[in-house]
Amino acid sequence: MKNKFLFSIFSVFFIISNVKAFELCGEIKQGEFVIGKAKDATKISLNDEDILLSKDGYFLLAFGRDEKNTQKLTVTTDEDINYSFDVGTTKWDVQNIKGVPPRKVEPSDSDLAAIELERKVVRASLKGVKDNTSWLSGFIMPIEGRISGKFGGQRIMNKVPKNPHQGMDIAAKEGTPIKASADGEVVLAYPDLFYSGNVVVIDHGFGLQTIYAHMKDMKVTKGQKVSQGDIIGTVGMTGRATGPHLHWGASLRNVRFNPQSLVDMEKNQLKCLKL
Ligand SMILES: [Zn+2]
Repeated sequence: MKNKFLFSIFSVFFIISNVKAFELCGEIKQGEFVIGKAKDATKISLNDEDILLSKDGYFLLAFGRDEKNTQKLTVTTDEDINYSFDVGTTKWDVQNIKGVPPRKVEPSDSDLAAIELERKVVRASLKGVKDNTSWLSGFIMPIEGRISGKFGGQRIMNKVPKNPHQGMDIAAKEGTPIKASADGEVVLAYPDLFYSGNVVVIDHGFGLQTIYAHMKDMKVTKGQKVSQGDIIGTVGMTGRATGPHLHWGASLRNVRFNPQSLVDMEKNQLKCLKL
């Protein structure tokens, strides 16, 4: 058993010569997604829970918007090696949003059932951890457009503080085709949810899903396999929206993170911390 402590991806790290190398590619920071490579590992666990390892030795990590805990990664080769590291802090924006329909900011008692339904339906779609590696196709932006709301922003709607933003908003004309960001399987295509409107969730394997909300039309159904670039729906403003846009979200093992870091994945392959 060996223990190591990493301060951050950009600071001090240790190499012990008799330990087989592994790498973490990406930024170890709140809201970020990181790919690990451990060619010789037979098992990986994060905070004492086993996570999937591909046959090529890849594994996935994501850090929530408010993650503050020291992370413990155990890489098993012919022995268990424990690494501890802290997650860097990110400074989040404050977003003032005006003109939201009042009912979507302060829902009435009769809306609570619809909100509860949405919570259940979305949560269920994000809990799958399938062992396929569709995420190896890489990720593209589902539409081109102006980023009208960043991930993690503290939102104030009609002057009322609300939950932080769990995805990225991309403004585009109503009816703009939305592409599947990567290969995967549609695990949710649900109409008319209170906040998300018409929403599609695609599962990419290893507990990684992408979420597409406020669609005008949905062009896929639950259970359908999609390839990167397939049209899954069109931009709309269903649910809680003040104008036509795509809310694009990402989740790994139920941790929401910034989907931008999926698109940056290839670039991040070059930013690897070798351990
Ligand atoms: Zn949004």
